[in-house]
Amino acid sequence: MISTAGAEPLGLYIGGQFTPALSGRVLEVRNPKNGALVGRVAEGDKADIDRAVAAAEAAFPIWSGLSGAARGDIMHKAAEILARRLPEIVGIEVDQIGRPRREMTAQLARLPEWYSYFGALARTHEDTVPPFGAGYLNYTRRVPLGVVGHVTPWNHPLLILTKKVAPSMAAGNTMVVKPSELAPITPLLLAEVFKEAGVPDGVYNVVPGFGATAGLALTTHPAVRKIDLTGGTKTGQEVAALAGRNLTRVAAELGGKASVIVFPDTDVDRAVSAALFASFIATGQTCVQGARLLVHRSIHDAVVTRLVARAEAIRIGDPQDPATQMGPLVSARQRDLTEHYVRIGLEEGATLATGGARPEGPAFDCGFFYRPTIFTDVTNTMRIAQEEIFGPVVCVLPFETEEEAVALANGTEFGLAMSVWTRDLARAHRVTHRLEAGIVWINDHHRIDPASPWGGFKMSGIGRENGRVAYEEYTQIQNVIVNLTDAPFDWYADDNVEKRYS
Ligand code: NDP
Repeated sequence: MISTAGAEPLGLYIGGQFTPALSGRVLEVRNPKNGALVGRVAEGDKADIDRAVAAAEAAFPIWSGLSGAARGDIMHKAAEILARRLPEIVGIEVDQIGRPRREMTAQLARLPEWYSYFGALARTHEDTVPPFGAGYLNYTRRVPLGVVGHVTPWNHPLLILTKKVAPSMAAGNTMVVKPSELAPITPLLLAEVFKEAGVPDGVYNVVPGFGATAGLALTTHPAVRKIDLTGGTKTGQEVAALAGRNLTRVAAELGGKASVIVFPDTDVDRAVSAALFASFIATGQTCVQGARLLVHRSIHDAVVTRLVARAEAIRIGDPQDPATQMGPLVSARQRDLTEHYVRIGLEEGATLATGGARPEGPAFDCGFFYRPTIFTDVTNTMRIAQEEIFGPVVCVLPFETEEEAVALANGTEFGLAMSVWTRDLARAHRVTHRLEAGIVWINDHHRIDPASPWGGFKMSGIGRENGRVAYEEYTQIQNVIVNLTDAPFDWYADDNVEKRYS
């Protein structure tokens, strides 16, 4: 079992072995709650990416040569092993990124389902027999792409990685992972799970490092057939442009600025619980954060008063304490960004209803803590209403009519997720169908399932994670057209017979 406690840094994982970076460089992973060292990890760059891609290429014929059923069995074993190792993994995930133990326990408990679901898809996938002319058998085969690259962020290190690894592995691809340098330990630990489950060496490779070096090398590698990236919209645009030169496929799960739309028939307490859950989970560091609370004017004041009181009661503290409800932001950079946007909000004329400051006390002195922050008197053109902050900041905007709610909700460049809160069934669906978002929850937020497609409209990305569609996006179609007749055919014969193509 790999250890984060020893003096030796964790290696890159290439071809089934932990190995130092060729450069010998090492990254330090620090705990955002107090700056303590969590672990030291080898820092890979282009030369290591080249090694990892070569290992993945070598493993491709072996892994893709197995039947879907055989891959499915191995993935079911991986699900069981992962479930067994969750307590240890949760602890490391909490230390790496500072999210509270209660959140990480709830989130990671779901991960084995991804391996079971996609393992089952590998076993049960059926191809098609499209109609063709008489005398022909015509069928399609979905075959894997080859070596694929996964580039992942720090905010849900294992969940996001799992959403990419499970479908790509099930479909028969081999892979190289470039995790965020802030959270590389759990992706390395996952390698042990796969090894024990019987995934052949070289199928899953991990090269921690920086986006500008290891990330760039992976996304521009000519042997990589698909890049699946989760990150900011700017990163997605840059990566897609570079990958396009090699015609490498790109899936990109990018930024968001989700609206939580509360109609007046919603009970105030329910609306407030919804807003808290949508806005402050993960200290606001999620792509589907309910960063914009659109509330009908008739209940606006009641919702804001209650929301402020409830936000002020959120217990901020040590993420390892099961009672803690909000941990620190992941890094000084992320807290600086939050503070920067709070200053912008004040300059733009929004009213700070609560928060807007670091919590005080010795427990918070060395970590990147920030209080839940609520802005009112926000208009849709303000930068705080438009730009992704990725911190515990929510903007409240009132609306009068359904028309106005839809226009406000659609009035950003993003289109990842939204939620609609109403007891009126017809309105719920009518409004949802007009929203420009890849994911819409009705009377809920944040829910996810391996079977349920996940991805954005507009500048929130391209491609989908989860569901059959994710599996299919990790394959390419081969069409096989079989002539069933033995009748002679000679296009150039001078036999006065009319020739046909079909
Ligand atoms: P970044 O865009 O900064 O980084 C994402 C990953 O891309 C990291 O591994 C990073 O490396 C790497 N990277 C950065 N630049 C390049 C490059 N030029 N070439 C290749 N790789 C590169 O995002 P964050 O890590 O800060 O994560 C937050 C962002 O992720 C937010 O915008 C959020 O909305 C989005 N996100 C989207 C989700 C979705 O489902 N749509 C879910 C979760 C987050 P490194 O950081 O190590 O240098």
